[in-house]
Amino acid sequence: MRIPLTDLNRPKTLSLKGDEAWLERLYGDFPLGKERALSGTLNVEIGAGGEVNVKGRIEFTPMVACGRCEKDIAWPLALDVDQRFLPERGPETKRETTLTEAEIEAYYIEMGAVDLEQLLTDLVQTELPMQLVKANDDGTECIVCHDDLTKDLVYGVPAKQPEKPESPFAALKGVKLKN
Ligand SMILES: [Zn+2]
Repeated sequence: MRIPLTDLNRPKTLSLKGDEAWLERLYGDFPLGKERALSGTLNVEIGAGGEVNVKGRIEFTPMVACGRCEKDIAWPLALDVDQRFLPERGPETKRETTLTEAEIEAYYIEMGAVDLEQLLTDLVQTELPMQLVKANDDGTECIVCHDDLTKDLVYGVPAKQPEKPESPFAALKGVKLKN
């Protein structure tokens, strides 16, 4: 969903119910299960410097693959949104090679509009942890697939290992190795 600046003569409030057509691409990247679709509120407003501020909160429960068994699990997210879209860059700044990291990572108004779809996709992507396992309280078992998380994985990143006192590495705990 791209909101043109011409629609922002006054602050705009978007109430998202989850059935908006422009969310279909997001659901393509992050599929919905039986859980609720994306919902929330975004306030979009032009600031004094010509930037566009997007603030609000969204909730979304995409289905993701368990990092252990690859079964689908619902992963509820609640995201606070507070993002600034900087004023449009001219063609000369785009050629500039001395952009700071902040400038490269920033969002910009492009072709007179702000791209909320891209923003939400990035936010969801950032919020999902690298290792998607819902462990029980002592971290030994996936509560979805009941896989034993203390076993080694055949592939991929091992889940957090519970500390075993008999481990030969236990003695190394707290010892800082010099590089
Ligand atoms: Zn699992």
